[in-house]
Amino acid sequence: MSLRPSAERPEGRRRPDSPLVERFIASPNHTERRGYATPDCVILHYTGMPTGAAALALLRDPASEVSAHYFVWEDGRIVQLVGEDRRAWHAGLSVWKGERDINSCSIGIEIVNPGHDGDLPPFPDVQIAAVIALLRDICGRRAIQPERVLAHSDIAPARKRDPGELFPWGRLWREGVGHWVEPSPIVEGPILKRGAEGPPVRALQAMLALYGYGAELSGVYDKQTELCVAAFQRHFRPARVDGEADVSTVETLRRLIEALNPFAPRSGEKVARSAG
Ligand SMILES: [Zn+2]
Repeated sequence: MSLRPSAERPEGRRRPDSPLVERFIASPNHTERRGYATPDCVILHYTGMPTGAAALALLRDPASEVSAHYFVWEDGRIVQLVGEDRRAWHAGLSVWKGERDINSCSIGIEIVNPGHDGDLPPFPDVQIAAVIALLRDICGRRAIQPERVLAHSDIAPARKRDPGELFPWGRLWREGVGHWVEPSPIVEGPILKRGAEGPPVRALQAMLALYGYGAELSGVYDKQTELCVAAFQRHFRPARVDGEADVSTVETLRRLIEALNPFAPRSGEKVARSAG
């Protein structure tokens, strides 16, 4: 593998940004951040490849044009590939709260896991503990808001499923990282799904957009809405990821919004009640 000169500086010359990093192993795949002096969100990924070594090689290959700031092995070791002041290339086409250049405003963390294509094995405890420690460090140093620790699937629902529905967002939240509420129980009731139209669908889309998702307020429960709901479920109601807005999904979304802003309208109830 040939690397550009910028990547050939001896390891250790560049000081890691986090004291939790074992080694700085430079990737050449980064540029200047555009319009952001400092990152204000963190995007979590799984590597989605058969081995961590293969993923690490890809993230350092100039031809791949992908990278991330941090890389967390199954055994909890953390390496840094790109300085936090630089724009790593991990988000791709994505949107959150209307922002489309997520690479410029984020820090990307790759978590070694073969992902959906590798039958989605659970994340080892020691690996999750390392991710939590790293997030505490980054969010503390950078004053990043809890609700801005996001999944790749949150910002690119049509393209990405990582880090997947087995990623323990609830544990992160209990240990002081990220934004989460205990999911509302799955119960019988009205369900909004593909083909539905009208004000309840538009209200659901408005709630998704209010939280940050790139949902269009079309009033039509189309493929895009379904993917957006599935992304929401992967993160916040992982017991059933089917892209259908059941009462539990809508209620969980409503409570998340309310937890951010106690004065938010309680529109979720109206969506659920009129959905039939
Ligand atoms: Zn990803």
